[in-house]
Amino acid sequence: MAFSLEQMPLVTLNSGQQIPQLGLGVYKVGQDIADSLVQKAIEVGYRRFDTASLYDNELEVGAAIRKSGLPRSELVVTTKIWNDRHGYESTLEAIDEALDKLNIEYIDLLLIHWPVPSQDKYIETWAAFESALTTGRVQGIGVSNFNVSHLERLLAEGNTVPALNQIELHPALQQDLVRTFDAANGIATEAWSPLARGRMNQDEVLQALAAEHGKSVAQVIIRWHLQLGNLVIPKTSNPDRLAENIDVFDFELSSHDMSRIATLNTNTRTGTNPDDM
Ligand code: NDP
Repeated sequence: MAFSLEQMPLVTLNSGQQIPQLGLGVYKVGQDIADSLVQKAIEVGYRRFDTASLYDNELEVGAAIRKSGLPRSELVVTTKIWNDRHGYESTLEAIDEALDKLNIEYIDLLLIHWPVPSQDKYIETWAAFESALTTGRVQGIGVSNFNVSHLERLLAEGNTVPALNQIELHPALQQDLVRTFDAANGIATEAWSPLARGRMNQDEVLQALAAEHGKSVAQVIIRWHLQLGNLVIPKTSNPDRLAENIDVFDFELSSHDMSRIATLNTNTRTGTNPDDM
């Protein structure tokens, strides 16, 4: 069954923003295809896009958003400030640069990409985020790759609770500690590398569940995220898989299925542990 827009669950963030639970990540989507891919995704039904200054495609993502002809309020765009721009003034400049590149009136969600504890500047960076929020050019602020210790410090020393925390999260890295802390503090958890970058495609449990539900392994994993309550932003550059990854609202994993996936946690990261940066 093809996806239809009214099927998309909306999540209400502590900022009051209501955003689609499933969006498209565009890490490693080249400038040559980013504009057309985002336009195609909008046609298929995606309304939320996750980019970053690091991805070097903000210009193209913004162009596609403008070309869509949809009211700006119907689309949600996240971008992130990279590690070399931490600190109050440097962050304010980086936010202006992101706004210039995207050229879409405002950023829906602005995230600190990594806390980089070795720099010890994320509290200053957060103060700049709070100041940007007051201008209206940034509508919501959050963090990425924050472990519990980083969040505890931010909550103690900052004035605004992050709207969301985007962390590496997939069946091999289920992140119960961070998810529980986020939930207890009203912070939404968003999964990056939600498909473990394809590394679990051969997993026997996931393949069995896919066969039982007549779905692909990617669809089963995305469904698992949705049922856990995670925001989820699978990336694909492939137009067919754009449609496949959003076609996840016509089946449901049982509690037994969810328990089977729970056994797959091995605390295996595809990326860096944020504490080590
Ligand atoms: P994902 O777990 O989303 O996996 C993407 C990979 O899976 C690509 O190789 C893609 O290939 C493949 N794929 C996608 N859909 C399917 C499918 N249906 N069947 C088979 N293969 C599929 O990894 P990402 O690391 O890209 O994470 C998603 C997003 O999270 C990023 O794009 C980015 O927005 C964000 N992110 C944030 C980070 C952070 O530090 N905050 C770090 C990393 C990512 P193909 O394109 O060929 O389909």
